[in-house]
Amino acid sequence: MSEAIGVSILGATGSVGASALEVIRMHPDRFKAVGLSAWQQTDALMALVCEFSPAIAAAAPEVLSSQLVRAGKFPDTTRYCSGTAGLKETAAHPDAATVVAGISGAAGLESIFAAAHAGKRILIANKEPLVMCGNLLRRVARESRARLFPVDSEHNAIFQCLPEGLQREVIAGRGLTENAIEPAVTHVTLTASGGPFLRTAAADLNTVSIDAALEHPTWKMGPKISVDSATLMNKGLELIEACMLFGLDESQVEVVIHPQSALHSVVYFEDGSLIGQMANPDMRIPIAYGLSYPDRIPSGVPPLDLVAMGRLEFEAPDIERFPCIGLARAVIRQGGSAPIVLNAANEVAVEAFLAGMIRFSDIPSLIDAVLNTYENASATELSVVLSIDQEARAAARNILAKGLYRIGV
Ligand code: MG
Repeated sequence: MSEAIGVSILGATGSVGASALEVIRMHPDRFKAVGLSAWQQTDALMALVCEFSPAIAAAAPEVLSSQLVRAGKFPDTTRYCSGTAGLKETAAHPDAATVVAGISGAAGLESIFAAAHAGKRILIANKEPLVMCGNLLRRVARESRARLFPVDSEHNAIFQCLPEGLQREVIAGRGLTENAIEPAVTHVTLTASGGPFLRTAAADLNTVSIDAALEHPTWKMGPKISVDSATLMNKGLELIEACMLFGLDESQVEVVIHPQSALHSVVYFEDGSLIGQMANPDMRIPIAYGLSYPDRIPSGVPPLDLVAMGRLEFEAPDIERFPCIGLARAVIRQGGSAPIVLNAANEVAVEAFLAGMIRFSDIPSLIDAVLNTYENASATELSVVLSIDQEARAAARNILAKGLYRIGV
């Protein structure tokens, strides 16, 4: 066996980071964690630094001096760095051939572009780079010969179901429809668990608690994505992500509610065949596939027990009770800066809900109100993407302060 592949993990203390490190622990001959980043959870980061002795570790600026460089306590072979610059350095570190991008929210954007410019093999686990500027990321990947691997479970499922020629196109930053190969793929279906409020009446969505929104039925995830799953905005963001990543039209991506979360997504071919990927819902599977592609390696996840599962159910999403899917479709059709505004407004709305400032049912209303204040613009540079993101957050906070989001929905 040749030397272990160096892996930088951005967001090492989050749920994606933890799954990636479990896969790496299982395969010390294949992979080595050479870069680790966290933001505030420095105790957890330092435990990982002691375990893996990475070449580089990064955290938020304010915690660096106090905790990271206590003389003698931590490996002196690790270089410590801080802030966005530190994240970018961890992403582009020469020892890392592969980067796991697991920082949720817009905060992960600059570091994933640093990895793309450095020509890394990138496992994209955070949605924002594709939602906010997927076309730009793919362009940079093509120019820098970076390779993109979808790790969001639905997109990874679609990727797993594609023929190898189309997989190679996706990895290289080209969509299914931009290549010389005549794609036999007609459309894809993203499956959604439906979240904790699948059967909750519309009127009761006004009064659901924060704790209830955080109770995801099948996946264990951080608070932001758990709330996104409850509003179905997670699926809205994944619609945008799928269009960007696979170069598909909005009309070629469907959403089906599948409460068991066993079938992770489906690809439809022109002969009438459907190919889907099934597995227990566990992020170690998409991460292991991204790390080892084109090989498959043990991920530590037991296979799905079909008999124990018994039945698989499918139903159409209720877009009246869950308007976020409709907002996402409208934004894809508009293109330009609209997905950036939607993503920013959603982050502010979810924060406000988790802080007890707004009701659950106000989340889509606030997003809609922010989208309505915006003229669409093009965003073909990262600096423009970031400034639109900041403006949209400010607009969302302004509307929030005035309570205007209650109007019109
Ligand atoms: Mg997903």
